[in-house]
Amino acid sequence: MGLYPLFADLTGLPVLVLGGGAVAERKITALLAAGAKVRVGASVLGAAVADWVAQGRIEHIGDSFEPAWLDDVWLVIAATDDHALNARVAALAQEKRVFANVVDDAALSRFQVPAVVDRAPLTVAISTAGAAPVLARRVRETLECQLDPALGDLVALAQRHRPRIAERWPDLAKRRAFYDWLHDGPVMSLLRNRQPALAEQALLDALDAGETIPPKGSVLLVGAGPGDPGLLTLRALRALNQADVILHDQLASEAILALARRDAERIDVGKRCGGRHTAQEHIHQLLLEHARAGRCVVRLKGGDPFIFGRGGEEMEFLRRHGIPYDIVPGITAAVACAAYAGIPLTHRDHARSLHLLTGHGKDSLEAMDWPALAQAHQTLAVYMCVTKLAMFTQKLLENGRHPDTPFAIIENGTRAQQRVLNGVLRELPECARQHAVSSPALLIVGEVAAMTATHAWFGEQAKDTSGHLAAL
Ligand code: SAH
Repeated sequence: MGLYPLFADLTGLPVLVLGGGAVAERKITALLAAGAKVRVGASVLGAAVADWVAQGRIEHIGDSFEPAWLDDVWLVIAATDDHALNARVAALAQEKRVFANVVDDAALSRFQVPAVVDRAPLTVAISTAGAAPVLARRVRETLECQLDPALGDLVALAQRHRPRIAERWPDLAKRRAFYDWLHDGPVMSLLRNRQPALAEQALLDALDAGETIPPKGSVLLVGAGPGDPGLLTLRALRALNQADVILHDQLASEAILALARRDAERIDVGKRCGGRHTAQEHIHQLLLEHARAGRCVVRLKGGDPFIFGRGGEEMEFLRRHGIPYDIVPGITAAVACAAYAGIPLTHRDHARSLHLLTGHGKDSLEAMDWPALAQAHQTLAVYMCVTKLAMFTQKLLENGRHPDTPFAIIENGTRAQQRVLNGVLRELPECARQHAVSSPALLIVGEVAAMTATHAWFGEQAKDTSGHLAAL
């Protein structure tokens, strides 16, 4: 028989908890949050439970169980480790028509406490009817990641204006469309961005506007990280689930795109057309077109959108055209590749600063401050370096960087094919040539780069040095 799901209003109602240990403490915490009048029966009280008693927040009703304790309570939770006592309490409770829960014992329980995702006033409760509480917890973890923390604020806001919404949209289909707009449009986005007053204003404006529900098109500039889907942020994952359209780079991996909403339209704007990347102007136009059509557009970029990703230009363009946008940062290649190669980018003994550079772009290598970049005890992380390795090495050596300065090149960092080459600066161009380094690859120059030889831990290549294997 299935369980009947129930959300109970316990405000001011007496509830009995048997046991004073850690489990009882967790149950009492939740009961207090729901406003119940908690009575605890136990011979030994843990520190937190004893504090609540001392503060008068709960009542310590006695040491050893008496049937009369069940006389005027609405619920009882037996959280003792005495099985016989738990069974007796359950039987007596049934006689007295009091709902009983025996912790971790579905057979003795008349009600069960679900695993909960709390976005108050929104609550998601999960139960396996006691069959597999551990699995319920896993489901809870999944939902915890997927449900935006701002959802609670949205529900509370909708609750405050519910009568006006109902009055404004008496027709159910239209009202439903309005709630969809609340959830998918600017109101939710403003709440997420910690702008509750603006969110409320947007809701009120929409109620005052004419017959139509306002458009909800917006753009999310999202960093996808370097390739390993595990390095996606929760916010990025939620954006992928929300997207109507995804405009992605070549660097956004298949594994990451697989996490997106199934019916989202995907547009590969990293594709080389006739040997060239999609022109930036064309990307701008696509962003504009889709956002103006009321869609939720995710502009998905490898790494972080603001690090050598032209995210800045896209943001400026969106601002100029009055399109609302959010930015979701990502783990940039330097941070991720270094970590996955066992290289700390800064280190108290070896590197006091970190420079992020690119070998590519409007300003040529000539324009860089080489004497500064060639100083010792700093780390250089060079993006888009593959065709510039020889020139880069030459400039550093000419400007006084020691020829024995360690380097590491990380190709396909954080992915299954990750390859790390390392050596010293004077050998760099030859080493890269011999191993036919290809893009995407990141160059790290500096004392810390040597650490990959002894501290690598990721990928097939790291077998010999992996900490896990060494420990076996
Ligand atoms: N916005 C991105 C960088 C885009 S520029 C970020 O923050 O990471 C593209 C360059 O990033 C590549 O040429 C390469 O140098 C670097 N890169 C990105 N992903 C990489 C990866 N998985 N492994 C190695 N380098 C990577």
